[in-house]
Amino acid sequence: MFEDIKNKLHELRINAAAKALESNGFKTYVSLSRAEAKEIVMKLIPEGSVVGVGGSATIRELNIVEELERRGIKVIHHWVKVSPEESLEIRRKALTSDVYLSSSNAVTLDGKLINIDASGNRVAALMFGPKKVIIVVGRNKLTRNLEEGLLRARNIAGVANAIRLNYKTPCTTLGYCVECKNAEKPCNVVVIMERKPSNTDVHVVLVNDDLGF
Ligand code: SF4
Repeated sequence: MFEDIKNKLHELRINAAAKALESNGFKTYVSLSRAEAKEIVMKLIPEGSVVGVGGSATIRELNIVEELERRGIKVIHHWVKVSPEESLEIRRKALTSDVYLSSSNAVTLDGKLINIDASGNRVAALMFGPKKVIIVVGRNKLTRNLEEGLLRARNIAGVANAIRLNYKTPCTTLGYCVECKNAEKPCNVVVIMERKPSNTDVHVVLVNDDLGF
């Protein structure tokens, strides 16, 4: 019910974010569906690339890793069953991939990207290392401003990741962030990208659908 009104609202927000992201130097694409978003991502990956993938539910929800592997593209990703040492090595290798795929924890309507990480491998790759970065963002991650974005990044993305990783942090029983100092937590590093980093080609694909958390 009222789907047309909700869609119109999301469309207005996506268009505002796209315009602001472009003005901040991010090459931005608007997609109306998951299928369209996936197609845009696949077209942005040159043949023969080595592709690194960050810890991202959005990229997995779009089944992009499987699609790349099916096409014979080498993918470096650490959401596999390996030892902690091997996982660290995979994350280091991903920093020198040709193309890096991730989402963002929040994107503001004035075109800023907000990300929170445990070890910082994903945010490092978004800023420097891979030649091209592709960030896929569902409409559910758009926020009015930085303040709202940081609240979202901690209280939605942070808590959901703590639940996903089965951490014993306060938020996994409370349902919201108390900015704990727990050694086992997915939110040590907070990075705000106000503009495109100088030496990285950053593409942002906005999707008029809910994706990730
Ligand atoms: S800082 Fe602590 S309480 Fe907040 S989201 Fe992260 S793990 Fe949860």
